[in-house]
Amino acid sequence: MFTLTPLPYAPEALEPVISARTLEFHHGKHLATYVKNLNAAIEGTPLAELPLEEIIKKSFADGQPAVFNNAGQVLNHNMYFEQFAAKPAASEPHGALKSALEAAFGTLEAFKSQFAAAGAGVFGSGWVWLQADSTGALSIAKYSGADNPVAHGLKPLLTFDVWEHAYYLDYQNRRPDYLAALWGIMDWNVVAGRL
Ligand code: MN
Repeated sequence: MFTLTPLPYAPEALEPVISARTLEFHHGKHLATYVKNLNAAIEGTPLAELPLEEIIKKSFADGQPAVFNNAGQVLNHNMYFEQFAAKPAASEPHGALKSALEAAFGTLEAFKSQFAAAGAGVFGSGWVWLQADSTGALSIAKYSGADNPVAHGLKPLLTFDVWEHAYYLDYQNRRPDYLAALWGIMDWNVVAGRL
């Protein structure tokens, strides 16, 4: 049984970048529903004994969309909400993460710019991810629906949700404004811990 991971901050803590009202729906309704539907889809099956990442890989490989979509969305949202903070412990990448970003993208600004452009370019509902391959090399990728790096054997490091439910109450159709604002609440220590 999976449970709804509590937000690591108060609902109003991320305002004005993400409003309490958006979090109330996004975390309290959308994510809660993915958790509930995942539990219903795996109950009484061998998948119920596996960790979330294994459920994602197996349901992706076996073509079980009812399981995969909900499992993917639970992991995607947990990682999305966890990486933000009202007063981030680290407001910029540093150390090994900074070096890896500079190796892949040249500068931090170039990374942010390419990442936000990729997020703006996701057609319809999906996610933009910073991911690492088995050699530690970083790349940016667009994913549709619930898809994510875990399903493809890559390490998930940072993600921005571009489903409309993530930003419509606060930004309406202005997805690029939402993406640009998210940098202000990033806790880079959380991302570094995923390397
Ligand atoms: Mn979402």
